[in-house]
Amino acid sequence: MKIALITGASRGIGAAVALACAEQGWDLALNYAQGAPAANALAERIRALGRRALPLQADVSDEAQVRAMFTRIDEELGRLDALVNNAGIVARAARLDEMSVERWQRVFGVNVIGTLLCSREAVKRMSTRHGGAGGSIVNLSSRAAQLGSPNLYVDYAASKGAIDSLTIGLGRELIGEGIRVNGVRPGIIDTDIHSDAAAPDLLRAGLATIPLQRMGTAAEVAQAVCWLLSEASSYTVGATLDVTGGR
Ligand code: NAP
Repeated sequence: MKIALITGASRGIGAAVALACAEQGWDLALNYAQGAPAANALAERIRALGRRALPLQADVSDEAQVRAMFTRIDEELGRLDALVNNAGIVARAARLDEMSVERWQRVFGVNVIGTLLCSREAVKRMSTRHGGAGGSIVNLSSRAAQLGSPNLYVDYAASKGAIDSLTIGLGRELIGEGIRVNGVRPGIIDTDIHSDAAAPDLLRAGLATIPLQRMGTAAEVAQAVCWLLSEASSYTVGATLDVTGGR
């Protein structure tokens, strides 16, 4: 029985990843920040599939909360085999010269420090260097890392650029320790994250540039994440897969 932690699993891509992983036989720790009812409902759906599911509230940018979350996984689920660093936020659409340092600290805190903190705790448990049995880490990047998101959220785009670098570096750092690290770079996916940016005109302009002429679904991203988590991708290391409808 393999055990995976999905961060930001209460909705959107994280919830879709959790469901797809459950269908492939994973037991799951479901991290969330504020969406307890949604996380609990998802846990029920996963249990109905015959898998174990443990909802865990923790702000991934908070070191003490992340440590406590991993301790609960150790005690209540067992030895971790995989981590999906999915929790991520955007702030309201703005130009750089309108942004506050508090906003940057929050965006980088969740998207970058959160990924670093969860990865560190996972490595301590999965690396053969620490007596673990190996595992897999998948990081959620964004096509924004390469397009830069001008006039929308260059801070978010830069935070996802950091994730792309981390995926390459950590992939190589851990390669001799049984852990594969890869990433997924979604394009515009139909989730609630876009309402946080509150920029419907910019979203419409972005949609017009998608060669496949539609948004992606969370379930389509989830398939890519599950493949990278699984042994089916055993020779893929430090790679980030575009799931962008050709954009
Ligand atoms: P979403 O629908 O807004 O869901 C975000 C999830 O992250 C929620 O479950 C939320 O939990 C959780 N979360 C937020 N802050 C957190 C924190 N501090 N600690 C723990 N959990 C936290 O977003 P999404 O569209 O599914 O995006 C998922 C990932 O894909 C993100 O990393 C995002 O950057 C990336 N991505 C999305 C798109 C897109 O178009 N949707 C495109 C490219 C990349 P609560 O609800 O409990 O607060």
